[in-house]
Amino acid sequence: MAIESLNPATGERVATFPEMDAAEIERIVAAADKAQKAWARVSFAERATPMRRVGALLRERAPELARLMALEMGKPLKDGAAEATKCGWVCEYNAEQAEAMLTPRPEPSDASRSFVRFDPLGVVLAVMPWNFPFWQVFRFIAPHLMAGNGGLLKHASNVPQCALAIEKLMHDAGFPRDLFRTLLVGSKAVAPLIADPRIAAVTITGSEPAGRSVAEAAGRSLKPSVMELGGSDPFIVLADADLDEAAKVGAVARTINAGQSCICAKRFIVEAPAYDAFLQKLTAAMKAIRVGDPMDPMTDIGPQARRELRDELHGQVKASVAQGARPVLGCESPTGPGAFYPVSILADVKPDNLAAREELFGPVAVVMRAESPEHAVAIANDSRFGLGASLWTRDPAKVDRLVPLIEAGAVFVNGLVKSDPRLPFGGVKASGYGRELGLEGIRSFVNVKTVWVK
Ligand code: NAP
Repeated sequence: MAIESLNPATGERVATFPEMDAAEIERIVAAADKAQKAWARVSFAERATPMRRVGALLRERAPELARLMALEMGKPLKDGAAEATKCGWVCEYNAEQAEAMLTPRPEPSDASRSFVRFDPLGVVLAVMPWNFPFWQVFRFIAPHLMAGNGGLLKHASNVPQCALAIEKLMHDAGFPRDLFRTLLVGSKAVAPLIADPRIAAVTITGSEPAGRSVAEAAGRSLKPSVMELGGSDPFIVLADADLDEAAKVGAVARTINAGQSCICAKRFIVEAPAYDAFLQKLTAAMKAIRVGDPMDPMTDIGPQARRELRDELHGQVKASVAQGARPVLGCESPTGPGAFYPVSILADVKPDNLAAREELFGPVAVVMRAESPEHAVAIANDSRFGLGASLWTRDPAKVDRLVPLIEAGAVFVNGLVKSDPRLPFGGVKASGYGRELGLEGIRSFVNVKTVWVK
């Protein structure tokens, strides 16, 4: 089967690549295994040289990488350039910090000397999504290659040119050629790769169903895995919040990347006294967002990444309205070429409505009413997901009381949920397990080795 990229703004075919066959995959895996064994013996300082270089290349090539993202998945140019620059940051951060995060830790015991080492595991398979086609991959590459592991990338099938550009960046930066490779394969190739004894671990960023099948394959082979899956993040607005700021940030938090981010604010849960005012302010802020050609510098959000995903989203919107949600803005699917969807709001959504229970992966805000701060948290937790959460209040006592109760991998107070190379990132419940980034992230794929010397 061929791997195809289609321009989601026009529907035109951009490029087609043949899928790699078994013999080619075998050559790449064998070479990666050999390259990683050599890389494991290289010092942190030597690993940091190409890591810094790739960081610089990402910044230098940001405009052309942004063009590729726009072409293959519809991200506006300015957002694509910002994504490439952020990738530069994660590379530089890990080049600087990896040694300190992985330095052996002395632990007193009955030995004359005992300590804990953090040794590399081997070649890690990374199964990645199209929504942040560079960031998701570099937040994997930067810590784990600094830790001495190798990487094989199975990217989403609609972004093959981004996948190849990442491989080229790594080679141009001077990493050993076989240490990091892109595999142009479909999802059927994933389970056999996980079973291969030369693959030490697997990480996936993607949807819940994909996560379940990768976790199953990893379990069968007893391989460590990290699951970064979907979310239905709550954005809790209490009555005492700064409603202007909450609405302004909320509009961005819902529509960033055309609403196709795992940590987009997906459910706005608003305390009753602030409900009407917040809904009105959110509507005004969302109306001002310009949907259009990702190549136009005036565009805020581009099309959805694929037409069938746009149609699936519209199906969810129609079903939610049939179940009683009130369409306040947008909610009509455009005719014409491309995978565009308007900025939309569904209000008065009840906890049993589809819009509250499923992930809406597009620019559709779901607004729900809560009777008290505790009720807002109960609604927030009434979800099988638990990725990020945003809490808006001016009262520090409410922050201290509510944050521990929220079932999510991150809580951002009076701000937009975002990833940061310094902070661990990941979820609980069906949003997955394990962490990326920060100290916990870099230690996901290491052998925590106890050393005891008489
Ligand atoms: P997806 O369809 O699950 O695809 C993600 C990756 O998994 C792709 O490389 C895909 O390959 C592969 N894949 C799909 N089914 C598979 C299977 N059964 N076995 C093995 N691999 C499989 O997700 P997406 O549409 O690209 O991304 C959107 C989802 O990702 C959303 O749910 C979003 O919330 C989640 N996400 C989570 C995070 C996080 O950090 N938690 C970040 C970003 C996105 P093909 O393309 O070849 O099918």
